[in-house]
Amino acid sequence: MEFRAVRGVEDLIPPESEKFEKVVEIFKDVVRKAGFREVILPIFEEAGLFSRSVGETTDIVQKEMYVFEDKGGRVIALRPEGTASAVRAYIEHGVYAKEPFTKWFYVGPMFRFERPQAGRKRQFFQAGCEVFGLSSPGADAEVIRVAADIFDSLKVDCSLEINSIGCEKCRPEYRKALIEFLEQKKEELCEDCLKRFERNPLRVLDCKVESCQKVVAEAPRITDFLCDECRKHFEKLKEYLKTLDVKFTENPLLVRGLDYYTRTVFEFKSERLGAQSTVLAGGRYDKLISQLGGPETPALGFALGVDRAMLLIPEKEEERNGVFVVTRGEKAYREGLKLIKFLREKGIRAEMDHRQGSFKAQMKAADRVKAKYVVIIGEAEVEEGFFSFKELETGKQERIESLEELFARL
Ligand code: ATP
Ligand code: MG
Repeated sequence: MEFRAVRGVEDLIPPESEKFEKVVEIFKDVVRKAGFREVILPIFEEAGLFSRSVGETTDIVQKEMYVFEDKGGRVIALRPEGTASAVRAYIEHGVYAKEPFTKWFYVGPMFRFERPQAGRKRQFFQAGCEVFGLSSPGADAEVIRVAADIFDSLKVDCSLEINSIGCEKCRPEYRKALIEFLEQKKEELCEDCLKRFERNPLRVLDCKVESCQKVVAEAPRITDFLCDECRKHFEKLKEYLKTLDVKFTENPLLVRGLDYYTRTVFEFKSERLGAQSTVLAGGRYDKLISQLGGPETPALGFALGVDRAMLLIPEKEEERNGVFVVTRGEKAYREGLKLIKFLREKGIRAEMDHRQGSFKAQMKAADRVKAKYVVIIGEAEVEEGFFSFKELETGKQERIESLEELFARL
């Protein structure tokens, strides 16, 4: 074969595509109930948007972004995540001036040049939510509750970890302490961390290299450095999570791989996913909107990894549904064509096998497409004007006199 899909970029053919659809449908259903409305955002943007928001020293920007020059000489990036675009659109359309607070959701492909493996692809899908304009911890709790609702609806067990990474007031203090600590452990850090720890020491906390994780386990904890406001915010958040029946554990080392977060960060994980255990991740980003040129506006959000969620939902036995019309002879075939048109107009799935082979071959096709019923139109049926109606599961066959009766029977 001459052409194959690009490495790390996968086709989703049925039934995988149906699993995808199930995850997305449940996501949309849950978030719409909480008042989120859909935004449809471009899949490429000026590369600078991402380096500015996700952060110059993050893995995403340093190693993972697909960047190219377009024919007009613009430096473009395929989006590695959704929040930067959502914020850009929010500012560009002046939404802040029209609504006291805004709740958006999006679904779509993201692109990161990573090493492909189970649960890690170069094109993957995220379904995300963003709330703009709310600063209170109740908003954090509600957003996390919505995320938990998605897993409840998917019937997937996940555990939630939360942390607070402070604000521009308290984080510098922590940064200093962390740099001092890491300075002592230099020999044990990986090359990347050695390069970045002075510019962005929090990145070290997020490093996946084992030796770095060992170092990090002993590192000072951000939660010991929070200012009064951040601490209060975090305490309130935990209270409200309890009010909303959300189970969580605190992970003082959780920092997330993107620079724009402030205060609350959280991740939903599943052990069943092995190394790629995080299915949904998010947090508060109160400085991002002003950083991208908008007015000072608090905000928060999360993104669900659709591909990873698909790995968690159970394989389901395909359910039989709809009607397969089996015919013999040209006259019956035409009756069959009319019948599938009629049934579809009535909202019933209806198919036939246009190859017009033997009854047996057509029955086999009916079984393969998992039809629930077969309507047989043979010579006798055409002559006398009735339908033979068979339920595939039971094999029970009956005679049906009219279209109305058939419709009623379905
Ligand atoms: P990880 O630590 O697994 O690399 P991340 O911190 O880079 O994740 P985010 O940028 O927060 O992830 O994205 C949110 C979610 O999107 C992740 O929790 C994950 O479910 C999904 N995701 C991220 N990168 C990929 C990828 N390359 N392939 C599939 N899903 C991904
Ligand atoms: Mg990553």
